[in-house]
Amino acid sequence: MKFNTKLIHGGVSIDETSGAMSIPIHMASTFKQKTIGESQYEYSRSGNPTREAVEKLIADLENGHSGFAFASGSAAISTVFALFSSGDHIIVGNDIYGGTFRLIDSVLKRMGMTFTIVDTRDLDAVEAAVRDNTTAIYLETPTNPLLRITDIKGIAQIAQQHHILSIVDNTFATPYIQKPIDLGSDIVIHSASKYLGGHSDLIAGLVVTKNAELSEKVGYLQNAIGAILSPQDSWLLQRGMKTLSLRMQRHLYNAQVVFDYLSTQADVARIYFPGDPQNTDFTLASKQMAGFGAMISFELVAGLNPEKFVSRLNVITLAESLGALESLIEIPSKMTHGAIPRDTRLANGIQDELIRLSVGVEDIDDLISDLDQSFKQLKS
Ligand SMILES: *Cc1c(COP(=O)(O)O)cnc(C)c1O
Repeated sequence: MKFNTKLIHGGVSIDETSGAMSIPIHMASTFKQKTIGESQYEYSRSGNPTREAVEKLIADLENGHSGFAFASGSAAISTVFALFSSGDHIIVGNDIYGGTFRLIDSVLKRMGMTFTIVDTRDLDAVEAAVRDNTTAIYLETPTNPLLRITDIKGIAQIAQQHHILSIVDNTFATPYIQKPIDLGSDIVIHSASKYLGGHSDLIAGLVVTKNAELSEKVGYLQNAIGAILSPQDSWLLQRGMKTLSLRMQRHLYNAQVVFDYLSTQADVARIYFPGDPQNTDFTLASKQMAGFGAMISFELVAGLNPEKFVSRLNVITLAESLGALESLIEIPSKMTHGAIPRDTRLANGIQDELIRLSVGVEDIDDLISDLDQSFKQLKS
């Protein structure tokens, strides 16, 4: 099956007992065993049919071996990091989700793991950071919020040479745009609260593993740690995922038009968008991704107030998060990336003035005229 067909018919899409075209929400905590151990499911933390449907679906979409659903993207990330032990060293991309940075900096370090933060676009720097006790390379591409692109295949090759794992947070791209396992990655993570859920009504996380050995390990940890996605939320997530392609097509189209519009604005000093032909990552993005995504970050020219700009928008909503039907705008330094110390943030290129826009699926004319009226007001 090809991707769009998998979205509709992949995983478990029909209830075999009733023929229902929508899978049942199995609220059961426990399941009858015919004789001891003779049952498909035992206890819902360990396995639940509704959760299994969305887990099979994401595994299908990412061309992986198995999928695992969690109560949040952060729960998914925490569970994956539980693969490692005190004394392990992990190489991490320098432009990652603020919550992942917080988990590393204030929890995992305390538990004895060590980290080297590297710009993963620089494969030589990644290679040079590998030590005897390195166990994994962890990265996001495109990154948040600067939308930098890392060569997933190049990283996977380094990981394979050193017999360590390569882990990709694929939240910003979704499998509609890129499939890291096809490029050699071992584990893919999603905050499904973003594009996969897609409707600003759900917090969820997903993990996909490349092979049976990793599936066994992650499955064990999912059950041991227990940060599972509930049956209702599993149902809601797979319902949202069915329209991923339709939504992404509109997201991508709208983002391209917004980029073209911003490029002509004298009040915009700098734009960060992988689809910008002048972006240093453009060639790699064109090769690695089947679309440039719908996230655009930009800086206004010095002296213009970004807070005024974002708060005067009417259609585009001032809010954290991304990947929703609704266009969402925010200022990373004050919102999503506020937890990163200012010096670290500035060293990574995230200016105080940076604005991050998640382009939604509204009518493009309304988005452009909304941006336009806010630019005009900046002058008055
Ligand atoms: C939002 C996000 C997360 C965290 O996911 P939650 O569902 O909010 O816990 C992780 N990675 C990226 C790239 C994100 O955007």
